Amino acid sequence: MNTTTALSKADSPRPNPLPGGEGARQTLFAADALLPAGWAKNVLLTWNDAGQLTQVQSAAQSPAGAQVATGPVIPGMPNLHSHAFQRAFAGLTEHRAEQHDSFWSWRTLMYRFAARLGPQHMEAIATWLYAEMLEAGYTSVCEFQYVHHDADGRPYADDATLSLALLRAAQKTGIGFTLLPVLYQTSGFGDQPPNEGQRRFVRSTESMLRLLEALKPACDAQGARLGMAPHSLRAVPPEALRDAVAGLEAIDRTAPIHIHIAEQTKEVDDCIEWSGLRPVEWLLDHAPVDARWCLVHATHMNDAEYEYAAKSGAVAGLCPTTEANLGDGIFDFSKWRSHGGAWGVGSDSHASVNAAEELLMLEYSQRLAKRQRNVGASAAQPHVATALTLEAVQGGAQASGRAVGGLAVGQQADFVVLDAAHVALQGLPAPDMLSAHVFASHRTSAIDAVWVAGRERVSAGRHTLHDESASAFVAARTQLLKD
Ligand SMILES: [Zn+2]
Repeated sequence: MNTTTALSKADSPRPNPLPGGEGARQTLFAADALLPAGWAKNVLLTWNDAGQLTQVQSAAQSPAGAQVATGPVIPGMPNLHSHAFQRAFAGLTEHRAEQHDSFWSWRTLMYRFAARLGPQHMEAIATWLYAEMLEAGYTSVCEFQYVHHDADGRPYADDATLSLALLRAAQKTGIGFTLLPVLYQTSGFGDQPPNEGQRRFVRSTESMLRLLEALKPACDAQGARLGMAPHSLRAVPPEALRDAVAGLEAIDRTAPIHIHIAEQTKEVDDCIEWSGLRPVEWLLDHAPVDARWCLVHATHMNDAEYEYAAKSGAVAGLCPTTEANLGDGIFDFSKWRSHGGAWGVGSDSHASVNAAEELLMLEYSQRLAKRQRNVGASAAQPHVATALTLEAVQGGAQASGRAVGGLAVGQQADFVVLDAAHVALQGLPAPDMLSAHVFASHRTSAIDAVWVAGRERVSAGRHTLHDESASAFVAARTQLLKD
């Protein structure tokens, strides 16, 4: 990078008050920036009051007095799959409970934890989580929100209580938001009644549509996108899926629709027993799957499913660290991309909250499975971290239903400034700095600043709410474990 124009962390004037606010400057000059077509030099980013990029000029001069990035600028990563409350029990399920622990034994522990959660816990956990996400390079998140009711399974006086707690957490931290209230009705294929652990999740299709109507103004008011998530084929019978999708379309014809699909081999076996078809196959045959859809996990597909799901335009929602943590299996990334499939990453259960680590885990799982290196690289983008970042931002933006698809005019000014002074990065060319950020800088962040919609939310590696939200999170978790 050009050290004559880049200011070091110590002498940066940081003129932009936190978080955003009056007088925020609407330009940033970067010696190196990752644009949709690849790395560019001397890039001037300009955005409007709404935080939308109005100019992205390479080979530019730095205007007098311009704010200058301290390191390479990369697009902010959309996190396409989150269950916020699960952050509070990360680390608590890493001990043997059964002879063969699996997703299903993890889920039993998750249900026990979910049973105690209140709105104030939800907000405290999510506020810390979203601050962590921002510090770790995520600039927006899709929240797959399935805990709706009180501990007894009764709707709160305001049915939207827990969703509103999440919206407030997003607003406080400044993270971009897509809210996906979850439809959950059955405990298994073939209309099996929900069990005790699921009573906080269950609602009729009609009440789901009322909830969506109630949440729309609150989402619109803070620039969040509202979509819907049929939980999975095991939790949503065919007629409910059809009616809910039609109801959502009546509210917003292009709203995002996310579904857990084919995460577990047991789920695939049960689906075949119920319908004669595999889950992805069933969904493609019975639902209007297109670019609005995000197929979360889609880990277990056959060749035909890879081809048709990719060609449907849906995004594959990959959650590599959670899928590894839960022992789900390995998605065939090369096969998906060979059919032109869109994809993005999510931190899901939040065993890890780090955009770079999701890309690392994705790439490493492929290397181990194929006994090959740089699987995610392409002829056009030989640097694997660059290729993965650009594709995951595109797919993540599509799944979010928001204009957060990278450093281009019309997209939101969501970006990350890498820490050029980090030992793992210092003195390297910009593409190698991103490689070092993804592959070599773990356990110490190589992120300096994070901007969302043109506002600096993380500075010198820390979110403005870091300390207070961390304390509130620990207090909430302590209370949940004690009760
Ligand atoms: Zn999930």
